[in-house]
Amino acid sequence: MPSMRNLLGSDSTSRRQFLAYSAAWASVPFLGQATRAAEKPRFDDDPFSLGVASGDPDHRGMVLWTRLAPQPLQPDGGMPATAVRVGWTVAADEGFKKVVAEGNTLATPQLGHSVHVELNGLEPDRWYWYRFHVGDAVSPVGRTRTMPLPWVQAEQLKFAVASCQNYEQGHYTAYEQMAADDLDLVFHLGDYIYEYAAGRNGRVRTHHGPEIESLGDYRVRLSQYRSDPLLHRMHAQCPWFVTWDDHEFDNNYADEVSEEAGVDPRAFLRRRMDAYQAYYEMMPLRRRSLPAGPDLQLYRRAPFGRLAELVVLDTRQYRSDQPNGDRRSPLNEAALDPRSTMLGREQRNWLYRSLTASRATWNVLAQQVMMGMVGYSTDDEPLNYSMDQWPGYAAERIELMRFLSERRVPNPVVLTGDIHSHWANELRVNDLDEKSAKVATEFVTTSISSGGNGEDKPSWWADMKSANPFVKFHNRQRGYVRCTVTPETWTSDFMVVDQVLEPGGKTAVRASFVVESGNPEINPA
Ligand code: FE
Ligand code: CA
Repeated sequence: MPSMRNLLGSDSTSRRQFLAYSAAWASVPFLGQATRAAEKPRFDDDPFSLGVASGDPDHRGMVLWTRLAPQPLQPDGGMPATAVRVGWTVAADEGFKKVVAEGNTLATPQLGHSVHVELNGLEPDRWYWYRFHVGDAVSPVGRTRTMPLPWVQAEQLKFAVASCQNYEQGHYTAYEQMAADDLDLVFHLGDYIYEYAAGRNGRVRTHHGPEIESLGDYRVRLSQYRSDPLLHRMHAQCPWFVTWDDHEFDNNYADEVSEEAGVDPRAFLRRRMDAYQAYYEMMPLRRRSLPAGPDLQLYRRAPFGRLAELVVLDTRQYRSDQPNGDRRSPLNEAALDPRSTMLGREQRNWLYRSLTASRATWNVLAQQVMMGMVGYSTDDEPLNYSMDQWPGYAAERIELMRFLSERRVPNPVVLTGDIHSHWANELRVNDLDEKSAKVATEFVTTSISSGGNGEDKPSWWADMKSANPFVKFHNRQRGYVRCTVTPETWTSDFMVVDQVLEPGGKTAVRASFVVESGNPEINPA
């Protein structure tokens, strides 16, 4: 192998050493309990069975991720209870001829032998390739990118929005098309796993084990999902911004409150601690998201040049309990209670500060539950609303719409998951007051697999449409939303898969919509 010094100028060499140095520091907090690191570990099975991933990019770097798991369906991944040294390499080309950074870090049993390498000295707005090695084993190659400089207007950003991938209910066919879309980024908005026992939703394949409750259970479930080759491959395509919804822990939970009555909040938080830790271990998250007991900070923001401010929210960890017993209900006093919160005070203040400070053309709120106040008709008036979504927290939702409107936040676009169906919504302070000004645009992505094949339009669509004129599109098949953003326009393609119960389904654009900068109106493309 030719010497690196010959291939690279001295500048690049010192950058490489700097990166190795910062990566070494990244593992220091876990050194305390680490016993002697195995320098030359041997594996009977591929330790990189879970593949590689990258995430949370900025203009200088991103997180590179892997997790050693020769036996992914064992709680310890089939790894010894010792720390293992893992090497990593970053190159400016796919063939690794121009290595720009390399180093090594410790994968510790305390964090499930996960590896999170945070890079901080790369060039803005360009693609990189990376891989890991341990002993004689070399990982698959991942592709990742840095963001443009925050003060530079970028020409285009192309990304996908995904959510809800129940392993038992369908194949991850949508990721096959997504991998061919040549995207800069992926947002995953939650329900990355489901906590349910094997067979509960069984259609096409089966969960491993009973409902997950312990750290080992959550690790195994996340590993089982990540072993899917299509998901695994998409993670290697480009960096992801991930956030969770409820099923990463427990259906419809609200902070320390279970959906089931009589669950001790302390025991519930103990379980949450395990769920959150396993989530951190499996995701390409920065050290700022390292869990602390039952808490993990997931809300964060990242500018894509001056083109888009990407704000990622967490609407589960801090919310007050759903009003009206979690069920659909009219907008009664409980749903309109000004003390109810989806975001919690700290996150809400941070969000308002971030939006005030943003200089971006498009301000993107990537979050979980539907903001459009969709009312469902009943036999007798009034309309019913989902209490697990923003209508259950209507006062905070109205306040947020007023804030966006009064502070003239440019081009707010809300990205949403959770409900296993596509929606395009024009948002107002009061969505039903058609004479009032439109404030923001919402694109809700359907599920990757949850719910099976689904259908194009439900039988009740006509009633729904007339009760909710701000809804511009709806579809209940599987798929994702693909967005192309320029300084002038935002285009959303609603992608649908013809079927997910067998492998090999076909993915196509079902409908495309355009929003022009300066006007939150949704128009057919
Ligand atoms: Fe879901
Ligand atoms: Ca959900």
